[in-house]
Amino acid sequence: MEDIHTNPYYGIFNRQKTNQFKVGNTTYKERIKKLDALMVALEVDYKQKIREAMYADFKKPYLETDLTEIYPVLTEIRFAKSNLKSWMKKQKVDTPLSLLGASSYIVYEPKGVCLLISPWNFPINLTFGPLVSAIAAGNTIIIKPSEMTPNASKVMAEIVSALYKEDEVALFEGEVEVSEHLLKLPFNHIFFTGSPQVGKIVMKAASKHLTSVTLELGGKSPTIIDDSANLEKAVEKIIFGKFTNAGQTCIAPDYILLQENLKEQFTTLFKSKIKQFYTDQVALSDSYSRIVNAKHFERLTGYIAEAKINGSTIVSGGASDGKDHFIEPTLVFDVPEDSKLMQDEIFGPILPVKTFSTLQEPVDYINSKEKPLALYIYSKSDKNIDFIMSNTRAGSGCINHNLLQFLNHNLPFGGSNNSGLGKSHGFFGFEAFSNKRGMMKQHTMGATDLLTPPYTNFKQKLIDFTLKWF
Ligand code: NAD
Repeated sequence: MEDIHTNPYYGIFNRQKTNQFKVGNTTYKERIKKLDALMVALEVDYKQKIREAMYADFKKPYLETDLTEIYPVLTEIRFAKSNLKSWMKKQKVDTPLSLLGASSYIVYEPKGVCLLISPWNFPINLTFGPLVSAIAAGNTIIIKPSEMTPNASKVMAEIVSALYKEDEVALFEGEVEVSEHLLKLPFNHIFFTGSPQVGKIVMKAASKHLTSVTLELGGKSPTIIDDSANLEKAVEKIIFGKFTNAGQTCIAPDYILLQENLKEQFTTLFKSKIKQFYTDQVALSDSYSRIVNAKHFERLTGYIAEAKINGSTIVSGGASDGKDHFIEPTLVFDVPEDSKLMQDEIFGPILPVKTFSTLQEPVDYINSKEKPLALYIYSKSDKNIDFIMSNTRAGSGCINHNLLQFLNHNLPFGGSNNSGLGKSHGFFGFEAFSNKRGMMKQHTMGATDLLTPPYTNFKQKLIDFTLKWF
């Protein structure tokens, strides 16, 4: 077993540990100054560099980088700036009459030294978003971004070293081994975003030191469309949700559960809207991203190859180009249940559709799987919406849209069980990086002072009275 002192990151970990009280005791103004620095970096100084890095990593259109990488972090910062003063205040709570003479409050104290491991699919957003919450809550933090988007990681390393001292925020680029070393250190909290498989590795490593974890994981997010829905609007929104970032989005609709009688109309609308959004030749569109690397390109084209031989019907798309990691938006019907498309999280621009005749079928299907990160329903029927919502479980969701729940910082964001543990965004992110310290202050002699030994008959009467009335 590795001796902690020989861990390559022990030195910096220890410096952050020493510095944690200085950082933790900063005022809200000092924390906001740190967040302002990040805001200027993203909005002005490094905006173009970030766009270029994202284009180099997976041809992400500039507009999509602005909308899905920079904007969510800016709104996270703005939200924290408006609310941090009240979040940091002691929260008074009631004290029961039996504890007369005392007052009670909750202090949101920083967890301490935190580790942030982020994924490649929205590298800026999913690294700097949680960083905002960690800073707002007064922690020191070590960041390990994904090795799969090296250009994004390089700009983030530049930003972090330009804005922060290493003993408050440090970022280490590199392969999986970097995370493996970091996970051996006794952090006070780990915030991990990635796959459920790696989430289990993180949780196991955390258990060694009883480190608390926030796990933002993935899974297959279902989208139900019933025959009361505005189908044209539903298709437009699903195309936006599924093909933004070429489907490499944790809360993208993974598959559709479509009311049987809508099949033909759905297919016609899908084809015409794809043309409208990306033209006849999607490969030439400036609005469509590429798959992040050869490994994921091969995984996804493998799904299409399997669909071609297992009886599935590819009704739209299916083309790909390995030189460019391009995969066409692809719509597939009649997909066998044991196929990879129905078993794995797709995380790419392939959309399988299953049909149903009664609403109980999607409910049974969804409940036979792991709890999804998000669940979407397109319907005009409140009765149907209520039926789906009250008979399924999911981390988050939207009715008659998708993805947008991520952008409202008043909402907690995160999964449930296999799709995640704990929540992020806004106050929920601040809370994830804080220990809620329950405090009581005794002001005068209290009722409990009458109950100290020796236990006399009078004291027994007093406790009998307390049991009955308080
Ligand atoms: P991943 O789990 O492969 O990797 C995530 C991070 O973990 C990376 O930084 C990687 O370097 C590190 N890592 C990989 N293997 C490791 C190991 N053995 N030990 C320690 N660290 C290791 O995930 P990914 O491919 O980067 O991202 C895709 C997954 O993330 C999907 O499942 C997606 O749904 C999920 N995701 C979830 C959210 C969310 O907010 N819930 C957001 C984005 C992505």
